[in-house]
Amino acid sequence: MKTNIFINTFFFLPFFIVTACGQNKKLPEEKAVITNKQINKPGNPYYSNSDTTKLNLTDAEWKKVLPEDVYLVMREAETERAFTGKYWNTDEKGTYYCAACGNKLFRSTAKFSSSCGWPSFFEQENKKSIVFKNDFSYNMERIEALCGRCGGHLGHLFDDGPPPTGKRYCMNSIALDFVPDNQ
Ligand SMILES: [Zn+2]
Repeated sequence: MKTNIFINTFFFLPFFIVTACGQNKKLPEEKAVITNKQINKPGNPYYSNSDTTKLNLTDAEWKKVLPEDVYLVMREAETERAFTGKYWNTDEKGTYYCAACGNKLFRSTAKFSSSCGWPSFFEQENKKSIVFKNDFSYNMERIEALCGRCGGHLGHLFDDGPPPTGKRYCMNSIALDFVPDNQ
C-alpha cells in the first residue's frame, strides 16, 4: 500500500508542475484591462499604447512577460492555425495594437475580408508601425512583417491584396490586441 502511494505521488507530480507553470504563463494576458481606449497589462512592463520608444529586448526577457502562446508566435515566428484566431472574420470598428508591446499597427478601416483564415489588412497605421524582412524559411521566399517598435513577428506581407495598395498584411490574431471605437 505504501509503495502505491509513493508511486502515485511521483507519477502525478510532473503533471501538477506542468499545470501550475501553464497557469502562471497565462496570467499577464488574462489581467489585461482596457481603460479610456488604452490597454493595460500589469504583467508586462514594456507594454504601452502611447510610448513609441523602440524596444530591444532579448527573447529571455520576453519569455518572462508574454503568455506562452503569444511568445511562440511573436518570438519564434510560429503561425497560428488558419480559421482559429480571434480576428480572422471580424469587422468591428476600432484599432489593432501589437500584443507584445502595445504599438499601434492598424485601423479597422484597412481590414478586408479575406478567405485565407487570418486577419488581413491592406495598409499599416503609419510608416513606422510595421517593418519587413526577407524570410526564406520552409523553402519559400516571403516577406516577414515585424512590429516596428519591438521587432515581434506579426505575420507576412503579400502582393495579392485589394486596392488602393494591392498589399495583404496576413497577420496572426494572437499577435494583435483590439480596442473597439465604442469602448
Ligand atoms: Zn510590438
